[in-house]
Amino acid sequence: MAQKVLVALDQGTTSSRAVVFDTAGHMLAAKGVEFPQHYPKPGWVEHDPNDILTTQITALREAVKLSGVDVADIAAIGITNQRETTLLWDRETGTCVHNAIVWQCRRTAHNVEWLLKEGYGDMIRRKTGLIPDAYFSGTKLAWLLDHLDLHERAEAGELCFGTVDSFLAWHLVTGRPHVTDATNAGRTMMFNLETQDWDDELLKILDVPRACLPKVVDSSQVIGMLDTSILGRPIPVASMAGDQHASLFGQACLKTGMVKNTYGTGCFMLMNTGEKRIHSEHGLLSTMAWRINGKPTYALEGSVFMGGATIQWLRDEMKLISTAAESEGVATSVKDTGGVYLVPAFTGLGAPWWDMYSRGTLVGMTRGTGRAHVVRAALEAIAYQSADLMQAMAQDCGATPAQLQVDGGASANAFLMQFQADIMNVPVVRPQVMETTALGAALLAGLAVGLYQNVEDTAAVWQRDLTFEPTMPEHEREHLLRGWHRAVERSLNWLEK
Ligand code: ADP
Repeated sequence: MAQKVLVALDQGTTSSRAVVFDTAGHMLAAKGVEFPQHYPKPGWVEHDPNDILTTQITALREAVKLSGVDVADIAAIGITNQRETTLLWDRETGTCVHNAIVWQCRRTAHNVEWLLKEGYGDMIRRKTGLIPDAYFSGTKLAWLLDHLDLHERAEAGELCFGTVDSFLAWHLVTGRPHVTDATNAGRTMMFNLETQDWDDELLKILDVPRACLPKVVDSSQVIGMLDTSILGRPIPVASMAGDQHASLFGQACLKTGMVKNTYGTGCFMLMNTGEKRIHSEHGLLSTMAWRINGKPTYALEGSVFMGGATIQWLRDEMKLISTAAESEGVATSVKDTGGVYLVPAFTGLGAPWWDMYSRGTLVGMTRGTGRAHVVRAALEAIAYQSADLMQAMAQDCGATPAQLQVDGGASANAFLMQFQADIMNVPVVRPQVMETTALGAALLAGLAVGLYQNVEDTAAVWQRDLTFEPTMPEHEREHLLRGWHRAVERSLNWLEK
């Protein structure tokens, strides 16, 4: 019999991908298909649900074809997805009543201001682990019900709400299950982490009827069989998890205190906090890591708004480099930034600062400051911001992690990774398989169908590629961090309210 394989569907913000893995976690093939973004008004972002579905099916078929595997050898399929993006469809016909409202969309910022003004902020934080924001699905769904006048239909059970995992499951699985996994539910601002159920008090405040909400299932569980129209055979669809949660699993951060950081457009750092749900004192989110066999594992999460996007800015707006990869050579052409700091607070600063009025700041320049110093300062800024998140996590849980596991496009930059290790004084570890999000979804699916005996077995798949050991003297580290924090102070509260 041929070796069994696993397929991950990775439905992202700009493209739908499918990745085929063998059970040892080697990538056999991958295919990504991009789709258009829609910006109907400033600050609004939408996707056509049909684009999400068709690009995902195309990516799946193409990846399987590229891999050359027999469809009969696919043991299971896992789903991972852009989080918080909100869809609402007709239970009878499957037709969406509106475009998907994407996580980035700010249309409900006023609704969140109202929630805060009414004094619901603390209660929402306590129950959901989230800091109330338009980013999460709850106010997006409430907006759809209000603006399309759909309350009665939702109440009558005629409509289905779902995040992208839920939407894909409904369309790809025979029998159209209306389900979502706990990690995705945890990003809606309607899910109570303690009871692991939708929260009636929150639903009442948002005026969302339970009848339109999906059933919450585990992250690793067979939810049904892939419809035979897609690959010609039924295949178990056996996992669903939000992208950052899947990546934490794919990085084998299975033990309490293990942390990963993904360096993409933004950076997303998650720390496994085990069975304990930690209430952050430093502006981090408390979220699900995953739920397996009904047992929740929790995580702390922090994000950097401008990660790799800072390098795109150097390339596209400042024209200081022509490719992102070039930043490494330019940065290492000088021995330091010569005291220059860039605080890329272009859209404000997130945890642990949370200042939406801060703006980008370049300080410490002299007559000798040149392009290389600025490029280096931009890369260092990604590391400083991530170090601040790590510090916040360490303070919240009372222990410094033993290492930081990294992935994402900008983690290819060796200068950035070495500086990250130096400035945190913690080793930075890069795995062989950088597609950790897809790998995590595949492993969660493999676990559900018994290809791995238990969660610990999946960790054997994770392989170290490179470790960046910290080598910077303590006094230099402290000096640089002090400078960074002085620079951050200067960026704060810049916009006039
Ligand atoms: P996303 O999934 O958010 O699109 P990716 O993981 O594909 O992001 O990473 C792309 C980001 O990484 C871009 O913002 C790009 O500027 C940055 N990037 C890619 N390669 C490098 C590099 N060698 N050095 C620094 N930044 C890089």
